[in-house]
Amino acid sequence: AAYIGVSVGGLSSFYTELNKSVGAAQRIWEIMDRTPAIPVTGGLTPLTDPQGHIEYKNVKFSYPSRQDTEIFRDLVLDIAPGKMVAVVGPSGSGKSTLAALLLRLYDPIDGAVYLDGQNIRDLNPSWVKKHIGTVSQEPVLFSNSIKDNILYGSENPAQVTSEELIRVAKEANVYEFVQQLPQGFDTVVGERGVMLSGGQKQRVAIARALIKDPKILLLDEATSALDAQSERLVQEALERIMKGRTVLTIAHRLSTIQNADTIAVLRDGLIVEQGNYQELLQNEKGAFRELMKHQAFQS
Ligand code: ATP
Repeated sequence: AAYIGVSVGGLSSFYTELNKSVGAAQRIWEIMDRTPAIPVTGGLTPLTDPQGHIEYKNVKFSYPSRQDTEIFRDLVLDIAPGKMVAVVGPSGSGKSTLAALLLRLYDPIDGAVYLDGQNIRDLNPSWVKKHIGTVSQEPVLFSNSIKDNILYGSENPAQVTSEELIRVAKEANVYEFVQQLPQGFDTVVGERGVMLSGGQKQRVAIARALIKDPKILLLDEATSALDAQSERLVQEALERIMKGRTVLTIAHRLSTIQNADTIAVLRDGLIVEQGNYQELLQNEKGAFRELMKHQAFQS
């Protein structure tokens, strides 16, 4: 009943297939990277772009394949338009799952996720997805040209001008290394072509997200250390892309946590504490202080 004018059978079978294909936690981001192309019809398609106000209201969730394990039991989180929220929490606490719910890879069992005050279950899934960019730690690049890999973020790849491509490539710190490649933007990467470094792949993913120009960004910060130079280039590109967008980031770096408007501490199925870095540090018995003792964030 939540969908307006949608063929519910079609949509639910699509998600059933998707659920089957999600095997392990680390694959959530891979799925998020890979599934933009499927146009899903039905649901409301607002005429204007979203402001980027995200609310998780009393969300309860278990994975369909593991219904005995409650991931969220009463999760409440409000992310104001244009703000950056850093989600922290122990491994397996559900940080990636938060992102997956926003992208409608799964729906809550109870409670709901709202975008600009609208339950996302009532919105057209493709429309929602169109306004959300993702940058994961290990982005999925296709064994195609760099250009195709970037244009994959666009709804109308054919209409992207070369000026536009160059602009996002520069912003994402991709342009410089692309210039060094034998065929520039037409160089094929991956199994059939040139192997990119981890940092280069992340920057291509940032360029892909930039071409989409989404109001909302989901970031999964890299845990594995890149060399200092590559790290700096990724960081710089990320800082540029975050401007003016609502950002939900799974933070692994201390600097990100310090810069976040809000840090949300996820534990035992809910957000147990939130505030900015200074605020959370002052709470000596708080969950954030506790987490900092056990988790080494990269500086
Ligand atoms: P990490 O910091 O280790 O990446 P996380 O906080 O992001 O973890 P999630 O990846 O959201 O945690 O996973 C939360 C829990 O749900 C974990 O116990 C994970 O094993 C489980 N899980 C993740 N994806 C699925 C899935 N598709 N099916 C069943 N269980 C899953």
